[in-house]
Amino acid sequence: MTDLKNLHNPFRTTGVRTFIGAGAYFVHRVRKLGSFLVPFLAYHISGRISPVLAGYKITHKCNLRCEHCPYWRRSGPEQDFEGVILTLRRLSDLGVRILILEGGEPLLWRSGNRDLRDVVKAARRLFSSVCITTNGTLGWAKLDADRVWVSLDGPGDIHDAVRGEPIFDKVIRNLEREGRGRAFVSTTINTRNVGSIPDLIVMLKGLAAGITIQFHYPYNGLPDDLFVPPGKRASVLDELIRLKSRGYPVANSFNSLKELKQTPWTCEDRLLANVEPDGTILHGCYLKNRGPAVCSLCGFSAHNEMSLAFKGQWQSIAVGMKTFF
Ligand code: SF4
Repeated sequence: MTDLKNLHNPFRTTGVRTFIGAGAYFVHRVRKLGSFLVPFLAYHISGRISPVLAGYKITHKCNLRCEHCPYWRRSGPEQDFEGVILTLRRLSDLGVRILILEGGEPLLWRSGNRDLRDVVKAARRLFSSVCITTNGTLGWAKLDADRVWVSLDGPGDIHDAVRGEPIFDKVIRNLEREGRGRAFVSTTINTRNVGSIPDLIVMLKGLAAGITIQFHYPYNGLPDDLFVPPGKRASVLDELIRLKSRGYPVANSFNSLKELKQTPWTCEDRLLANVEPDGTILHGCYLKNRGPAVCSLCGFSAHNEMSLAFKGQWQSIAVGMKTFF
């Protein structure tokens, strides 16, 4: 009998999928998509919007000190395992379908003898998709997550310069060993790496299931050395569109890549919830409680893709299916 649990989790699937197995996997994914029907119809019929995707910063702790990241600089309490479970239940009650565990480095979270594996296991019972973002330096193969995103900010020295440590080779080794071609890469474009993004995409073909890009946001306002102004984003976006049309694994949709050339772009931020390490849940823009939200400077392309999907754009729906299920 086909093991749906293994089909659900591509990291645990081994061997060549049989025709029957592939069919079951397809049905399984359609059922996942169906879990969005109620919020989708509520959005279009009554205009009521509940958060469907939550980013949960389970810890601010990190083993790196990246130049562009404000979160490792933050302290404050974080929840123990029981608190985390309560927070997950509150998110589920709000209608959240997709959970992204992030940080800091989420793999560093601990509570007694509990670690992120226990959180993922509990979350799988509450959400249609449970995903992790990681800097890729720590092993993630034992996590029963639907998707893992590994941060890479350029080839070789460029990634290491942004991240502040010579970790590029280690992350690539982990992608080969633990990702096995199924992990996604998340790349934040800034002034240091903007010229090398096409090289990174070419290099990652076959190594990652896809690469999602976003732009660095100036959390502390302007001037910000890493900030690529919207007016200067078009050339790299055009190059990404060209690579995607040639079969390279750019995961953002064509429509979204085109929209990102201008700001403000389509963003229905009420589709999102954000959770702080102390369990505070905020509904709306990723920047709430984290920095001034200036839509004309925004770089969070995932918000645009999600909004386009909820507006019914099939390309963005397909991206959602690929990147979350
Ligand atoms: S700052 Fe970005 S994510 Fe926040 S509401 Fe504006 S466009 Fe959306």
